[in-house]
Amino acid sequence: MARDAIIVGGGLGGSVLSEQLSRAGHDVLVLERETKFRDRVRGENMSPWGVAAARRLGILGDLIAAGGNQADTWITYAMGHPSPPRSLRATTPGRDTMLNMFHPDIQEAALARAAAAGATIKRGATALNLDAGPGKSPSVTYEFEGKLVSESARIVVGADGRFSQMRNWAGFEIHRDPKFLTIAGTLIEGTEVPHNGAYLCMGPGIASFWAPLGHGRSRTYFIYPTATGKRRLTGDQKVGEFLQAVQSVGTPASWTKDAKSIGPLAEFDGADKWVESPAKDGVVLVGDAAASSDPSWGSGLSLTLADVEHLANQLESQKDWNAALRDYARQHDEYYGALHRIHSWLRELIWTPGPEADARRQRVFARLYQDPTGFPDSVGLGPFGPSDEQARQLILGIGY
Ligand SMILES: Cc1cc2nc3c(=O)[nH]c(=O)nc-3n(C[C@H](O)[C@H](O)[C@H](O)COP(=O)(O)OP(=O)(O)OC[C@H]3O[C@@H](n4cnc5c(N)ncnc54)[C@H](O)[C@@H]3O)c2cc1C
Repeated sequence: MARDAIIVGGGLGGSVLSEQLSRAGHDVLVLERETKFRDRVRGENMSPWGVAAARRLGILGDLIAAGGNQADTWITYAMGHPSPPRSLRATTPGRDTMLNMFHPDIQEAALARAAAAGATIKRGATALNLDAGPGKSPSVTYEFEGKLVSESARIVVGADGRFSQMRNWAGFEIHRDPKFLTIAGTLIEGTEVPHNGAYLCMGPGIASFWAPLGHGRSRTYFIYPTATGKRRLTGDQKVGEFLQAVQSVGTPASWTKDAKSIGPLAEFDGADKWVESPAKDGVVLVGDAAASSDPSWGSGLSLTLADVEHLANQLESQKDWNAALRDYARQHDEYYGALHRIHSWLRELIWTPGPEADARRQRVFARLYQDPTGFPDSVGLGPFGPSDEQARQLILGIGY
């Protein structure tokens, strides 16, 4: 008999969704091509709105037990000057912190929970094709243990990440923002960055983001406008150049003094890539496959958990799974649209060069620190906070 769901991808999105569906009594197969998760230079700073979703989904305790660092303080450095520290516990509705965590450990912990909940997990299984269309059960062809296998299910979920093939095979139209920011990152050891926070450091037209993991380790990024010329900060031979670039932002010297890279260094085009209405013909997309938001804003893990929560709730509450997928797709358009809007305003505020833009930044940050009411809050609330016209005017300093 056909399964209830086949999920392609055992990242955060695929694993947590398969756990939710398995707990609800459904027969779920997860196909994950990696037999052991490795450092792919991915998200390691989960915002409080993602942590709130992780708590509601019941996975937060296991993430902390597997090494998640609950970091409470958000600080923005502008030209070397720190903003007043923001306590996230004190300023978010659920009193949540961020969670900084080595990405492969997130994946292992989430996939272990899926297996414990009864999902069938095939590791080393690579999806090769999808057959889906109106009025038929979708099916996936995959390679596993040297054999080609085809299986069908009530629904097939594409949770195969930012380079998703599932969305191509299913025939979704992919939308892309114009290229704007490039982000390069690596795992660092021997840094004195305080472990209880996350830090966005803004220098002259460049930025660096630090997500400390504890024990002198940090996931550290360097962000720059693509139009200033590709630096191609990828590979071991570029580590020295990467560390110099991070220093040139104006990060405290003690953070980089004895720092060395202990993982791969890789650079990515940050521009958002997304699918509108990410469900059709029994195929549904979650996480980066549905929308990979610019990593420079650090929202991807939280957005992925929002997808899982919304889709699992729809599948739980409706017998007609086609209707459930449609309702999830509509909700996805709304909250991803709000996040996309907020990020575009932040991009305009933070990355516009010149003296007028400097003056606006000073005015906006002064007002924000004095009274954040009505401002968009990409870190605390993500798309579930203000994103209306008043929010736009506040964050862009219009009318004051
Ligand atoms: C440089 C960078 C920095 C980032 N920083 C942050 C951050 O600080 N905070 C944040 O919230 N987010 C960040 N993100 C985004 C975050 O990493 C993603 O949003 C998140 O990992 C998406 O999870 P996912 O489950 O959708 O995809 P993934 O984690 O990519 O998982 C997809 C899985 O599918 C598997 N797979 C792919 N194709 C197949 C196939 N054909 N068959 C079988 N398996 C397959 C892969 O092996 C993988 O395990 C960052 C991303 C990048 C690139």
